[in-house]
Amino acid sequence: MKQFLNFINGEFVATSKTFENRAPADNRVIGMVHEAGQAEVDAAVTAARAALKGEWGQMSVVKRVEMLYAVADEINNRFDDFLAAEIADTGKPKSLASHIDIPRGAANFKVFADIIKNVPTESFQMTTPDGGTALSYAVRSPVGVVGVVCPWNLPLLLMTWKVGQALACGNTVIVKPSEETPATATLLGEVMDKVGVPKGVYNVVHGFGPGSAGEFLTRNPGVNAITFTGETRTGEAIMAAAAKGVRPVSFELGGKNAGIVFADADFDKAVAGITRSAFENCGQVCLGTERVYVQRPIFDKFVAALKAKAEALKVGPSEMDGVNLGPLISAEHKQKVMGYYEKAKAEGATVVTGGGSPELPDQYKDGHYVQPTIWTGLPETSPIIREEIFGPCCHIAPFDTVEEAIELANDTDYGLATTVWTQNLETAHRMAASIEVGLCWINSWFLRDLRTAFGGSKSSGIGREGGVHSLEFYTELRNVMVKL
Ligand code: NAD
Repeated sequence: MKQFLNFINGEFVATSKTFENRAPADNRVIGMVHEAGQAEVDAAVTAARAALKGEWGQMSVVKRVEMLYAVADEINNRFDDFLAAEIADTGKPKSLASHIDIPRGAANFKVFADIIKNVPTESFQMTTPDGGTALSYAVRSPVGVVGVVCPWNLPLLLMTWKVGQALACGNTVIVKPSEETPATATLLGEVMDKVGVPKGVYNVVHGFGPGSAGEFLTRNPGVNAITFTGETRTGEAIMAAAAKGVRPVSFELGGKNAGIVFADADFDKAVAGITRSAFENCGQVCLGTERVYVQRPIFDKFVAALKAKAEALKVGPSEMDGVNLGPLISAEHKQKVMGYYEKAKAEGATVVTGGGSPELPDQYKDGHYVQPTIWTGLPETSPIIREEIFGPCCHIAPFDTVEEAIELANDTDYGLATTVWTQNLETAHRMAASIEVGLCWINSWFLRDLRTAFGGSKSSGIGREGGVHSLEFYTELRNVMVKL
């Protein structure tokens, strides 16, 4: 059985308190996770603080960039190990993990290494009150020790998205992976060691949130800044912890994203796009579409086409041929999603397709599989339309005008992403200007350029990361004024 150890100051550290790591595919116990207590978290913070002053803190940007490239290369060298670890932890299809999760895990280091190499700071020459000259310029320094608290849906991708930026900017990190998915963060410790990243620069502490590693980490005053991806209500708890010491936070939180399809859209592309945005990764994508609005002239045709696509998706374990959707992450999450499936029926929704669990061979009967599900007919006040479900499901409602589509899309506490399908340029730009989100996709979904800003508005997040925007959070900008 695998043992997932903490990685502190360059050493793998076991603890006496362990918890089970179960495979979502069949609910078997596949490993034991060593939970970090207060002492281990404090040791990680001490190591990360010391590393800021040591070799890492003194390292030239050029050397640091080379090291991050080496980390990316080593992830690629161990591609199969990362792939196996991610699939075992999440149950996601191999095609998805091998095309998105692992390559992005490596790319996250290279992209930010490139950015940090090339980013300028401002410089002004000014006339002083006495008629002399002064030169004003800026220098950037790392913010310090960054706490990185991660979710389970894209474990390596979302963790390295933070770690790549933080390290590129010269910080040290302590990662708290989700208790559901400890594997790839632990494996990255081996990569850091092999590449020669100095001890204490990358640390991993395992455990849960409240009363465990998550809380110990975010409350530790030696952590200078906290970057978090996860549920909005967890963000509220972390924000309260970060208030002590007025420490900055960067949050990527939940969503209840709208997909909007106009009658003039390329129909087949729109259906394919919404199929992905609603069901990919079994709906466990923060950017996913759980509310779909379709312009009335094509409403019935669209519902029928999306139904056909959903019913063609094969649900099952990663090793089964042709699988499109894996299981949900845990028994608890399945219970939550099935709860919404029941609630939709109780509220009088028309179940267009799905609404239950698929039939699978006996050995997978304890896996956390659910059917892709489509509803119509619910009022906008329904919890199905207002609350984040995080499963492979969506509700489809008709609309008539651009104004109505904007109003529907914005009628939510969240503001993460939207996907708009139209061939009318004016409509596209109007939607982009009016929908209150951090990310607006036109005739596409999940298309990312890591040089651009990523984040959510309203209850979906605080701040933006990506490209030069990451520097706002991961560095301190100091102004230097020189009287010449
Ligand atoms: P979660 O909030 O339950 O847990 C995320 C992490 O926070 C875990 O590591 C957990 O142990 C830790 N945690 C929980 N309580 C804590 C506390 N009080 N103090 C410190 N740490 C604590 O989220 P999840 O269920 O792992 O992930 C799913 C959620 O993440 C969804 O809401 C989804 O929308 C969101 N998400 C958002 C984005 C984005 O970019 N906006 C990306 C992926 C996932």
